[in-house]
Amino acid sequence: MTNYDILVIGAGPAGSAAATTAAAAGYRVALLDKASFPRNKLCGGLFTGRSRSYYREIFGEDFDTTGAVTRDAIEFWHEGSRLARLEDVPPFNLTMRVELDNTLFQHALAAGAEDRTGHAIAEIDGGSVTLKDGARLGASIIIGADGVNSIAAKYLYGKAFDTSTIGFGLEIEASPAEQSLQDQPLRIDFASATWGYGWSFPKQGSTTVGVGGLRSANPDMKDKMSSYLTSLGLDGDTKRFKGHHLPFGDFRAIPGRKNILLAGDAAGLVDPITGEGIAFAMKSGQLAAQSAIKALSQDSPDKALALYQTSLKEMHRSLWIARNLRRIIFAPKWQSAFTGTFRRSGTVRMMYMQLLAGEMEYPELARAVVRRLPRYVLNRFRR
Ligand SMILES: Cc1cc2nc3c(=O)[nH]c(=O)nc-3n(C[C@H](O)[C@H](O)[C@H](O)COP(=O)(O)OP(=O)(O)OC[C@H]3O[C@@H](n4cnc5c(N)ncnc54)[C@H](O)[C@@H]3O)c2cc1C
Repeated sequence: MTNYDILVIGAGPAGSAAATTAAAAGYRVALLDKASFPRNKLCGGLFTGRSRSYYREIFGEDFDTTGAVTRDAIEFWHEGSRLARLEDVPPFNLTMRVELDNTLFQHALAAGAEDRTGHAIAEIDGGSVTLKDGARLGASIIIGADGVNSIAAKYLYGKAFDTSTIGFGLEIEASPAEQSLQDQPLRIDFASATWGYGWSFPKQGSTTVGVGGLRSANPDMKDKMSSYLTSLGLDGDTKRFKGHHLPFGDFRAIPGRKNILLAGDAAGLVDPITGEGIAFAMKSGQLAAQSAIKALSQDSPDKALALYQTSLKEMHRSLWIARNLRRIIFAPKWQSAFTGTFRRSGTVRMMYMQLLAGEMEYPELARAVVRRLPRYVLNRFRR
């Protein structure tokens, strides 16, 4: 068995952030992934202000926007009518995950993490992992950063998530030949999915168009995606759809067990209103690695989980507030009050945009919502 200080399973944003942090601190780290890089991940690729700031903090440089599309205008739509167009907003960077994740992965290797990607995992057993090619790797601490279908979470809990409580998204990449959406602003369509929304994000060489929302509330997600595409003048053929779960705010209060810490999607760290997950994945990967480092430096690997849980408190609080707030945004009985308020109030539009851009935190938003709630409730019952 080859021994390391830390094994990181999954080389997405959470895993590469964790591996970079631990390897840069001088620890012996192996970075595992069943895929070989570069690999793709179904995602809108919206890289927010929050992502840019965590990227700078974790990888020690500004995010290079050369490969991304940057937009400073966004439109909000509801059932085919435009609610608002906001111009000169803070820049939104739209990335292709195949490139973004490869950049993060290369950072981890440059920091000194050992590349063990391209091999599926056969078994996890406490402090060791056996790869399907027979190799056995051991470590004092394992960080499970292997996404929504996490094998580490399955090892700990029997299954990664209850799919009836999490979200699901469908996407296509529309080519420029199909429709020139490239010069368009970002577009968000409320009500294209129940407890979720539709999006159209211009990229270099394509436009990522998708719908996503709570899985249980959208048994007809494919039909919704077809209707959304048709409304944009695109081909709604279901054969081109790709789907992926997202743990939409269903975070784990205790992110792991014993010497196994879960980060990113594996720990359910996705914003339940906007669906943003890249920033939370990178940050939680960093926090998991820092907790592991501290515990190892005290020769007490079993302390890592408690340290990690404490360091996640602020993020958990934010996601908890968001999960409660989403009721008055997405619950079908509140939809008309929400869109009415959105149409009328420049402040609400600005707040929503800042939320999406990762420029506003939920505690601040919650205070603003409490101030407006009486009028909002009145609007709901006037209808
Ligand atoms: C349709 C959709 C649109 C989205 N749009 C956005 C957006 O615009 N902006 C945003 O911020 N977030 C978005 N998200 C969320 C975002 O994609 C995730 O939150 C983010 O990718 C989480 O990063 P991660 O590192 O935790 O997991 P992942 O990025 O999923 O990486 C996990 C890694 O683990 C590997 N792995 C999995 N299983 C195993 C195994 N058994 N053995 C070894 N390796 C394994 C995988 O190959 C993968 O490389 C979207 C999600 C969906 C589904």
